[in-house]
Amino acid sequence: MEIKKVAVLGAGDMGHGIAEVSAIAGYEVWMRDIKKEFVDRGMERIKQSLLKLQEKGKISNVEEVIARIHPTVDLAEAVKDADLVIEAVPEVFEIKTQVFADCDRIAKPECIFASNTSTMRITDLAKATKREDKFIGLHFFNPPVLMRLVEVIKGEKTSDETVEICVGYVKKIGKEPVVVNKDVPGFIVNRVQAPAGALLMSIIEKGIATPEEVDAAVKRMGLPMGPFELMDFTGIDVFYHANKYYAKTISPDYEPPKILEEMVKSNKLGKKTGKGWYDWSKGRPEIDLSKATDKISPLDFTMVEINEAVKLVEMGVAKPEDIDKAMKLGLNRPFGPFEIFKTMIDEDQLLNRLNELANMFGKKIFEPAQSIKEKKVRQMVEGEKAPQQVEEFQTIKIEKLGDGITKLILNRPERLNTISPELLDELDKAITMLWKDEETRVIIITGAGERAFSAGADLSSPIFHPFDFLEHNRKGERIFRRLGEIPKLVIAAVNGYALGGGFEIAMNCDIRLAKKSAIFGLPEVTLGIIPGWSGTQRLAKLVGISRAMQLALTGERINAVEAERWGIVNKVFDDDKFEEEVLKYAKNIVERCAPISIALIKRLINKGAEVPADVGMEWECTAAGLAFSTEDMKEGISAFLSKEKPKFKGR
Ligand code: NAD
Repeated sequence: MEIKKVAVLGAGDMGHGIAEVSAIAGYEVWMRDIKKEFVDRGMERIKQSLLKLQEKGKISNVEEVIARIHPTVDLAEAVKDADLVIEAVPEVFEIKTQVFADCDRIAKPECIFASNTSTMRITDLAKATKREDKFIGLHFFNPPVLMRLVEVIKGEKTSDETVEICVGYVKKIGKEPVVVNKDVPGFIVNRVQAPAGALLMSIIEKGIATPEEVDAAVKRMGLPMGPFELMDFTGIDVFYHANKYYAKTISPDYEPPKILEEMVKSNKLGKKTGKGWYDWSKGRPEIDLSKATDKISPLDFTMVEINEAVKLVEMGVAKPEDIDKAMKLGLNRPFGPFEIFKTMIDEDQLLNRLNELANMFGKKIFEPAQSIKEKKVRQMVEGEKAPQQVEEFQTIKIEKLGDGITKLILNRPERLNTISPELLDELDKAITMLWKDEETRVIIITGAGERAFSAGADLSSPIFHPFDFLEHNRKGERIFRRLGEIPKLVIAAVNGYALGGGFEIAMNCDIRLAKKSAIFGLPEVTLGIIPGWSGTQRLAKLVGISRAMQLALTGERINAVEAERWGIVNKVFDDDKFEEEVLKYAKNIVERCAPISIALIKRLINKGAEVPADVGMEWECTAAGLAFSTEDMKEGISAFLSKEKPKFKGR
């Protein structure tokens, strides 16, 4: 169904804005309120807003847009032919259900009903109608004309088609939809913030700090408004009612404290009544930043928000990236809770602090989510995503697997991942890229498809002159050598044929893991050429002259078990468990081994083999001195003494 006509019920703060953005996008809009003066006021606000947009050059057709909006007090006129009804009447359950029941009788059967409620369950509102499958939440943010987020909330009976149509509508009005898959109180943005509000109330109730002390501490961190000032700004009553609702639907821990109840009773509602936590009678209150207190930690608010966000993922409400998107767009924040978690928060720190807060304030809502208890949040954030494709290459593929592990895939499966000049160039580029990539600590090189790691140089590549071939060999040798120089641990995950140049890539890696069915060999001698990408030199160092002679002079192939016996391969895994085992192996390194030590050790071993022993020893002493000066050395020793896992930072 295509939406053409939209009916907006309520011409207040939200209703007039929703009508405006719908009309700008080209929809015919009927805007209904209960009194003509309310509709007129809504139309006047729309007009002023459109003129501002025109002044800023964002629209050029104010008259046309206004002509698409039809103000009315007649419900039947508004709803009769509508394809979508959006309700934005007061946040009172009985008013909303009455409005929907009335509309249900008038609207055509295929018309979709949406509520802009901030808190109520969509499923409960839908029950007022006989079209629960066509009932949805469209939660706009204030002011709709500026705020880009719309939460699209699925009720228990909302059909996928309804969701799809509404997502299309939200996109057409130039907003960003975030689908909320489960109808939970507060949806995403308000729900994630809810425990931070409860924490503020606990701080006041326990007399730990005053509103001004808290606001000063938060503002000193660079935020434009403190949380109590913000509460005054949006309305103490709004906060009070939302918490009453959460106390009923989520946990009694949300029950507002007496002081808040008294403020509501005595009409101290914040900015709108001139008094709340602050006196607003002379304009915005001045907060004395020197009152900033260290009796509270602003990071605690972040911790309880991350906790709630994790709980939402566990409940299946939304994915981490959607929660981040909603929190950024809905609150104009630079980062979402999971993004903060990834870059700033340690899992142990999160777990410990949440336990402390829960004990300190006696509130279950601060207790850590299950995934935090099990320290699985990082996995939740990174594991949910498909491996991140880093840059567009043609012949190789780079995937970030999380936990500091990056996969470099030789990606020409239709040609057994043979090495063309293009692949060589791209491999060089990828090594440069990963060299600088701080996230990457272990690189796993493997082949695409089931058959080959790499079957060697692509002999069909157009190189005609012997001198060009010499240069081509020199280039490959230099590029492969960089695998031994890059300051990260490089694993060759040999998942099939590793022949000629493919074998030479594997030989230049630091560690070789192989599938049982993998095959190794240097067939050059049978083709009238020679192993030209370091094969003759590298192999002799790996297995000794005798065996190097055997492989390079005969073109003989050996299997993975034999290669392990010869010392070419470090470990062999069964074919069906290969990928899993390689990943486990890499993770184990990331968890246990210090990055700077890895970088120094691999250089010493590789370069030390090329110089006299006393020079190598001298280098080793210098490198040891360098390692001794790192933060990671202190971390490694202290973790060892306290029998904990080290947290190396590469510093
Ligand atoms: P508001 O008080 O500014 O506007 C509500 C309007 O609805 C009023 O003009 C009122 O006369 C009208 N109304 C009352 N009964 C009606 C009826 N039967 N039919 C048509 N109109 C009727 O309120 P608001 O801030 O626009 O909030 C509306 C809804 O949007 C609420 O559910 C609220 O929770 C939600 N919401 C508000 C915000 C916000 O920041 N203001 C943000 C998101 C969602």
